[in-house]
Amino acid sequence: MVYKAEYIWVDGVRPTAGLRSKTRVLADGVEPPVWGFDGSSTAQAEGRSSDRVLRPVFTCPDPIRGGDAVLVLCEVENIDFTPHESNNRAEAREVAERFAEQEAWFGIEQEYTLFRDGRPLGFPEGGFPAPQGPYYCGAGAGVVFGREVVEKHLDYCLAAGLKISGINGEVMPGQWEFQVGPAGTLEVADHLWVARYLLLRTGEEFGVTVSFDAKPQRGDWNGAGAHTNFSTKAMREGYDPIITACEALGDGDKPAVHVRAYGAGIEDRLTGLHETAPWSEYSYGVSNRGSSVRIPWQVEVDKKGYIEDRRPNANIDPYVVTRLIVDTCCTALEK
Ligand code: ADP
Ligand code: MN
Ligand code: MN
Ligand code: MN
Ligand code: MN
Repeated sequence: MVYKAEYIWVDGVRPTAGLRSKTRVLADGVEPPVWGFDGSSTAQAEGRSSDRVLRPVFTCPDPIRGGDAVLVLCEVENIDFTPHESNNRAEAREVAERFAEQEAWFGIEQEYTLFRDGRPLGFPEGGFPAPQGPYYCGAGAGVVFGREVVEKHLDYCLAAGLKISGINGEVMPGQWEFQVGPAGTLEVADHLWVARYLLLRTGEEFGVTVSFDAKPQRGDWNGAGAHTNFSTKAMREGYDPIITACEALGDGDKPAVHVRAYGAGIEDRLTGLHETAPWSEYSYGVSNRGSSVRIPWQVEVDKKGYIEDRRPNANIDPYVVTRLIVDTCCTALEK
């Protein structure tokens, strides 16, 4: 007998990478092997020597096909098995290993917007819905748009065994959020990419497209972010390390280095309005959703816990963001 393996990888399109996948039929009992693909069609090679390698790194049940079918997330390599330049996971893996004893955890809040006919769900043809206010965590027709998609996506993620910790309706009509974590540095990013893949596939079933654009709608509408919650073992046990991490993220050229890698179009989203801090100024504060990095009020009460970097865009590569945060904060915490 045989089973189906859907190989998934992050492509080389920039500034914002996309997902690709293809199916391999395997004999029962055979683990998904290393495979290949045509990199010239995914912005990962020139036509002259276009073979690239798919190396399986994370496998889970395929909740769409069901049965014995699996999803196989891969790293992309060159044919000499070195990481391809588009492969940001390889660098994240090195940094995660270097600071493994600090036991970093992440929770990422993935916001996204559902579209049909070129408009966000809930936006009428040739006009606008009522202003923001009733939509965030709303209930009821006229306020909630696309719940059938969101519910099915959650069920798929849970059936796949992904570490989804919740979902909610967002501030703009048609905008939603799911959270992945807490999970380790590579784990959170692997699960997030597979959760995005399942969301794209769920959209296919409903004729709805998914946008991870950071500012999908111009005007007085919230952008879409990927707030990144972070802790180390020391931060989960005391307050000084919380402050050390907040200070490290603001040190020297770190704010600029991080913001540059926090997703395409970040200046359009981090305007200082719509629950953001301006992209050009670093700040941190307790409970403050207008600062770059927020210390949740409960964390200040407990004097331990985690911090929330509110700057990353919805269209981040989580391998890049988690790698930078671990590198910056764990280097400072090591001292
Ligand atoms: P918000 O109030 O900003 O909307 P959410 O509830 O949407 O927050 O997301 C918070 C995220 O933080 C969740 O993914 C959760 O798993 C994660 N989280 C909780 N504790 C920790 C921790 N100690 N370290 C890292 N992430 C954490
Ligand atoms: Mn072919
Ligand atoms: Mn949230
Ligand atoms: Mn949100
Ligand atoms: Mn948040």
